[in-house]
Amino acid sequence: MATHKLLLLPGDGIGPEVMAQVEKIVGWFRKRGLGFETETDLVGGSAYDAHGKAISEEAMGRAQAADAVLFGAVGGPKWDGVPYDVRPEAGLLRLRKDLGLFANLRPAICYPALADASSLKREIVEGLDIVIVRELTGGVYFGEPKELVTLENGQQRAVDTQVYTSGEIERIARVAFDLARKRRNKVSSSEKMNVMKTGVLWRQVVSRVGKAEYADVELEHVLADNCAMQLVRNPKQFDVIVTDNLFGDILSDIAAMLTGSLGMLPSASLGMEDPATGRRKALYEPVHGSAPDIAGKGLANPIAMIGSFGMALRYSFGLVEEADRLEKAIANVLASGLRTKDIAAPGTNAVGTKDMGEAIVRELEAQS
Ligand code: ATP
Ligand code: MG
Repeated sequence: MATHKLLLLPGDGIGPEVMAQVEKIVGWFRKRGLGFETETDLVGGSAYDAHGKAISEEAMGRAQAADAVLFGAVGGPKWDGVPYDVRPEAGLLRLRKDLGLFANLRPAICYPALADASSLKREIVEGLDIVIVRELTGGVYFGEPKELVTLENGQQRAVDTQVYTSGEIERIARVAFDLARKRRNKVSSSEKMNVMKTGVLWRQVVSRVGKAEYADVELEHVLADNCAMQLVRNPKQFDVIVTDNLFGDILSDIAAMLTGSLGMLPSASLGMEDPATGRRKALYEPVHGSAPDIAGKGLANPIAMIGSFGMALRYSFGLVEEADRLEKAIANVLASGLRTKDIAAPGTNAVGTKDMGEAIVRELEAQS
């Protein structure tokens, strides 16, 4: 039996509450004969309290050895004053850097049962199922020079620099094309080649990789401003959107809002493929943060965290049937009308974190 090594990093705030529900799901799959080995460690503020840093070297070692890392959320008002280098968010940045996680995948799925709760017209988003692939380690957030200086004339001048190499674009393009092959076989690549040199290079490289290695996948190019407009106007035209760090930041937040709730959205961050095993380093986390306002109250929606484990099943472990089964269980529980507070219509009944997690386990059981 293949064993899959999972490192659980629940973190702070609602992180541990939603991770506890994932542990129940993992337990259910284990009972059904799948070989999951789990370890748990600290990250973020809880790691700072214990070790004085946002992630210990021991936890980093465990992350390197794991087949996948499941990450909850970090931070909260308790740690607002801690030194910058050891602030809770530094734990996630260290993981991203050391694991080389350069591709951020954010699916936007709109469950039919929730379409009514959306502010958009039902027919636009119902059944929406797209993924934004965002380049995570390059671009204008990291390019040099980056500075804010005072000039001799007393004015100030700020500079950010967008830099991409063809190699960086190739590897993110391959992640998007590989993903599209497992979905509806379409990639939309987004940049601004009309005003940016990095956009020109982006379009050239994505076209070349597409022609040479993925002739079976449909490729289109969409200028980023138009992409934002199309996402709001007619999001179902897309399957996989691949874009740079800055545009991806913005476009993935737009896509997120099409689906209704932050508590529903999973994400994955992938690194380079290991040529020996074919596996990529990977970290899976909900899009939402530690939600200090509801932490400790048992109110958090665990679906984003559970869905993130679903992505691990699909992308790290190749357990496609199991991932489908988990997604179906989530859809069925929603269709039955069960809601946590964040997705319940005002004035209607809502259940807590634990009830939602346990209902999903029961639904997994009922399907088999
Ligand atoms: P970060 O800076 O880490 O992104 P944030 O404060 O911007 O954190 P969140 O912590 O995600 O964002 O919280 C934003 C709002 O959404 C809060 O009101 C929070 O309670 C709510 N929220 C976030 N996640 C969930 C969840 N899983 N279930 C219910 N409500 C949630
Ligand atoms: Mg935020």
